[in-house]
Amino acid sequence: MTTDGSPTNGSPTNGSPTNGSPTNGSPTNGSPTNGSPTNGSPTNGDGDGDLPAGAFSTWLADMQAALRAERDADVPCGGCTACCRSSQFVHIGPDEADALAHIPAELLFPAPRMPSGHVLMGYDERGRCPMLTNDGCSVYEHRPRTCRTYDCRVFAAAGVEPNDDDLRRGGLPRDDLPGDDRADIAARARRWRFDFPAEADRTEHGAVRAAAEFISQHGELLGEGVGPIGASPLAVLAVELHGLFLGGAPPDGPKVVEPDVDAVRVALRSRARR
Ligand code: SF4
Repeated sequence: MTTDGSPTNGSPTNGSPTNGSPTNGSPTNGSPTNGSPTNGSPTNGDGDGDLPAGAFSTWLADMQAALRAERDADVPCGGCTACCRSSQFVHIGPDEADALAHIPAELLFPAPRMPSGHVLMGYDERGRCPMLTNDGCSVYEHRPRTCRTYDCRVFAAAGVEPNDDDLRRGGLPRDDLPGDDRADIAARARRWRFDFPAEADRTEHGAVRAAAEFISQHGELLGEGVGPIGASPLAVLAVELHGLFLGGAPPDGPKVVEPDVDAVRVALRSRARR
């Protein structure tokens, strides 16, 4: 696979899962690739200082809307293309006619353990999306939903490290994964800094983090239609379920609470049916 977006062969050379479900059963968010690069050389972005992530509650509302496919994620990528270069599978649903019309069919293969019509796009021998060019995403206006909804700030929000587990795509051992840029997402994610202009920002942040911690400690719940989970889907799940971790009422206002395990189980079952 070349880096100019012209596939040199008909199938992903490394991006074929050997087992498991790379997207963890989450069609719209289990995979990375924000896909915001529109120009410039593939890069990790703009230095190594803190990156302003915005007010937490505003970000959370936007993230939830993106996960509901009501809007695209609006990530200030600053030229960073790490998520397009990190040996990630990109899920494309059967309803994504525009993306499917602009991505060569030979780059796609059936998504394991997902209904017919769901496909994955792999990556090249360097761990890069075959649609990534030196000028950015070659199908930016037509990029898959996975790319439109990905937001690496979710790691900072959930207090989850985009660790090796998130890169064990398709059961490939980490050492076998291509792509010397695979640590860039982690480096980028560590730089995000949220603002907390109101108490609600801090409370919601606490709820998202509590949700991530709870899910991590109750792995038995993940058998409820979620399956093995990596850092990225864990962080997304924390966003989706954080409302269960908000309680309290006036005059004290919302506060972080720990829900009953059964309430989380019910929510996970509901999510799996979507
Ligand atoms: S389709 Fe575009 S945005 Fe999505 S991973 Fe590939 S290069 Fe990145």
